[in-house]
Amino acid sequence: MHIAFAPLWLAATNCYVVSVEEGGPGVIIDAPPDPDAIAEVARRSGVEPRALLLTHGHLDHVGGAGPTVAAFGIAAHLHPDDEWLAADLQGQARLLLGLGGGDYQGAAEYLPLAHGAKLEVAGLRFRVIHTPGHTPGHCCLWMEEEGVLFSGDHLFAGSIGRTDLPGGDYRTLLRSMAERILPLPEETDVLPGHGPATTLARELATNPFLQGLPR
Ligand SMILES: [Zn+2]
Ligand SMILES: [Zn+2]
Repeated sequence: MHIAFAPLWLAATNCYVVSVEEGGPGVIIDAPPDPDAIAEVARRSGVEPRALLLTHGHLDHVGGAGPTVAAFGIAAHLHPDDEWLAADLQGQARLLLGLGGGDYQGAAEYLPLAHGAKLEVAGLRFRVIHTPGHTPGHCCLWMEEEGVLFSGDHLFAGSIGRTDLPGGDYRTLLRSMAERILPLPEETDVLPGHGPATTLARELATNPFLQGLPR
């Protein structure tokens, strides 16, 4: 498996391009509001994107979805509980940045991600793990055979997603973590929506937010 990525836009949101091999079909995970840079990540590894998978509806993850799906003729996938967020990117910009008017374009429509669903695309297999808390519709994407978890803004190296934004809920996040993420194999590589990669074992040992959670 080949994974290319770049931290993009003001929020340094990790955009991942995953493929079985360089120069083949693949998928894009998250679309920060810099579609040219997203296309460049794919081009650099010669990947032909076949789908756009969105971990959640925040501006820094979906604000470039519209031009990205248009450029590659692909569909965007998002959990339905986050469509209200993706539908108000200008509102999010005012809240997060204190100003609207930026060039943010979500997709015109989203195919629904559902908890437990298996997505098979571009020769890759993902299991959708709905992990509400950071947002109501947040999903992690688990590649069971490869032992890789794309954790979006649910779990970071040394931290967890903030829950003070509209729709966020701290107790819900911890419950999702305990019930749906901590049971995964400890050797799982965790690739978050911001910051460096980690492993579940390292987070279990050192992440202060995970201490004391039931496993
Ligand atoms: Zn977020
Ligand atoms: Zn984010």
